[in-house]
Amino acid sequence: MNLYGVSKKELEKYLKEKKYPIYYAKEIYQWIYQKKIDSIFSASNLPNSLRKDLEQDFPMTSLEIIKEQKGKDVSKYLFRLSDKEHIEAVLMRHDYGLSLCISSQVGCNMGCCFCESGRRKKVRNLETYEMVCQILEIEKRIGKRISHVVMMGIGEPFDNYENVVKFIEIVNEDSGMNIGARHLTISTCGIVPKIYEFMNFPYQVNLAVSLHASFDEKRKELMPIAKVYPLKELMTALKKYVEKTNRRLTFEYILLDGINDQEEDARNLAHLLKGINCYVNLIPYNETTHLQYKRSKPLTIAKFYDILKKSNICVTIRREFGGTISAACGQLRSEKEEL
Ligand code: SF4
Repeated sequence: MNLYGVSKKELEKYLKEKKYPIYYAKEIYQWIYQKKIDSIFSASNLPNSLRKDLEQDFPMTSLEIIKEQKGKDVSKYLFRLSDKEHIEAVLMRHDYGLSLCISSQVGCNMGCCFCESGRRKKVRNLETYEMVCQILEIEKRIGKRISHVVMMGIGEPFDNYENVVKFIEIVNEDSGMNIGARHLTISTCGIVPKIYEFMNFPYQVNLAVSLHASFDEKRKELMPIAKVYPLKELMTALKKYVEKTNRRLTFEYILLDGINDQEEDARNLAHLLKGINCYVNLIPYNETTHLQYKRSKPLTIAKFYDILKKSNICVTIRREFGGTISAACGQLRSEKEEL
């Protein structure tokens, strides 16, 4: 097991079993996540025997950044994993801090038609440490703290549920990265049983749902998951989620020219979300050379926005990052692997 994938509770259990004081767990967390040491032997105040035990039982292998693309207020990073697979993460600079969008799987099985990441089937889930290290390696490179994390990169986080919830525990730990639960967002394409499970997760993490269509038939065409969990089932689960957690939901809606961006789509969306504590994030599509979808016209986006606004739905149009860099999620990896 990798030290970056060990929660503080697990570390305490380990220390107890090895007859070390459990307060060392806090110190180990401070060394690796705040002082950012690369070897446990740099943790100078720990007994040598403990450092040797940790080195043997929990190696500190991390990920390697092999490419960085910089744009205005945004940087994309391509990582190589120990089995030579690739994933990517995107860093965005906002007024309120630095936000990192990370990957949760190598490839994705959800098959959303407009998605560059989904062109390659899932190879494997990311281990917890591989999610933690995306943040850590970028923090080390830029010398700054990342304040917000969104799980919206390659993969469906709820298809890697156990590792993702452990990741949240680790990065939320105050003696470690101390990223507040409200600064963490999980984005799902709508795996209903996991939404029910996530309602009982005791951290105040944000949930974002990729909707992308307000009519079932259109959604099924765009997102195969909708054939398994149609809108009625999804919305029932989400209403229960809001009722139980009292948290506001985010709905992500990518606008595709002539496909899901018509006035009737907007009106139906307003109807679907009426009375739900939520906000809608409209996303102008990032076109890629591999997929035929086109970005909606600015006037169409404005009309769509207005219809939602007039229906009293909280709505924003996502600020554009990217531009000259490979903006669509998964694009950097596709280029590297010549997919
Ligand atoms: S949009 Fe998300 S869930 Fe859908 S294929 Fe892409 S990575 Fe997977």
